[in-house]
Amino acid sequence: MLPLHTHGIVAAPVPALLKVLGIAEALSGAYPPGKVAVDLRDGPEVDATALGAAGFAGIVTDGPVERHAVPVHVHSLRDGAVVAPGDVVRVRPGTGMVSNLFRRGANANTLFATERCNSRCLMCSQPPRDDNDGWRVREMLELVPLLDRDLPWLGMSGGEPTLLGDGLREVIGAVATHLPSTGLHILTNGRTFADPGALRWAAPGVGRTVWAVPLYSDVSWRHDHVVQAEGGFDQAVQGIYNLAEAGHRVEIRMVLHALTVPRLKPFAEFVWRNMPFVDHVALMGLEPMGYAKVNRDQLWLDPLDYASDLVDAAFHLHDRGIRTSIYNVPLCVLPRAAWPLAQQSISDWKNTFAPACGGCDVRGRCCGFFASAGEGWRSRGIKPVNGGHHGG
Ligand code: SF4
Repeated sequence: MLPLHTHGIVAAPVPALLKVLGIAEALSGAYPPGKVAVDLRDGPEVDATALGAAGFAGIVTDGPVERHAVPVHVHSLRDGAVVAPGDVVRVRPGTGMVSNLFRRGANANTLFATERCNSRCLMCSQPPRDDNDGWRVREMLELVPLLDRDLPWLGMSGGEPTLLGDGLREVIGAVATHLPSTGLHILTNGRTFADPGALRWAAPGVGRTVWAVPLYSDVSWRHDHVVQAEGGFDQAVQGIYNLAEAGHRVEIRMVLHALTVPRLKPFAEFVWRNMPFVDHVALMGLEPMGYAKVNRDQLWLDPLDYASDLVDAAFHLHDRGIRTSIYNVPLCVLPRAAWPLAQQSISDWKNTFAPACGGCDVRGRCCGFFASAGEGWRSRGIKPVNGGHHGG
């Protein structure tokens, strides 16, 4: 698990957002030199003054260098692995903080749209804040042109991205312009799209976007309770229909916990009967962060105790032609028949494994755990799988 932030010496007049590139790629001209920091840590000896003359914004070096002529010099990083060629970083001269906003080759790269939200889900891993964070739109618009052009998928999460309104339209438009072959996967609670007028903010994404909308039950009051928003279910369902009618792809997300699992099987039937057009259904184990930690007493269920219902629901959908995945549930608590549906769903930077996993034959295929999941959040069923059998 590689962290997203580190500290070092940042010599720069103001905070900057930079694409870090090795010397050969920097000189290829694929990115404007004024946005590029050349990584000189592993490369050949290069005259740093010449890079300044060529218009490059910065350099990254192991330690101080005697002479250079670039505006930004980053060196002496505490954890040098946080920054690598291809990445995009934000560097802050005051604190020396270096934050990775895009990691080349990561299993998930995500734009963080906003901290604001119009729901208050009981298990929200990223509790919303009402701060005015419109600056994030400007940052995303600066970031998108610096992403790798061959990126297959780019995520967006929040908060609730549709609260950006026209800002969302701008960001989706920028992705369409700068990353024409990249798909967008946007997490939204879908409620905003109950108003067909809101579809204009999504319009530049038609044909390239999957909107991932959570539905937590087939029963409206149960969903509304989980999201802590009266009318949330009706709005989300209407939003899903409006998105689909406008030509968007839709994924349904269901988080598995004590308030949702009791209706899991009827929920699967509800989705199949009412939304057979959906692109994908993700049945997801809980991420023990944010409100989920606070509400543990209401939410926690050992995955071992819902595995059988989960597998029934997943195959109910799968067998009817709806692409279905199981996220965040380790293989050793799932029946082997369900393994083909289980994904390595946890982002690299928050993924970890338990001591028992060291001797497990299927570690390379297993999702493992969220780093935030201490002992109390791990199933009693965790045990290594060896030679086709669960070990002791
Ligand atoms: S022991 Fe660890 S690696 Fe093996 S299946 Fe269980 S959680 Fe996954």
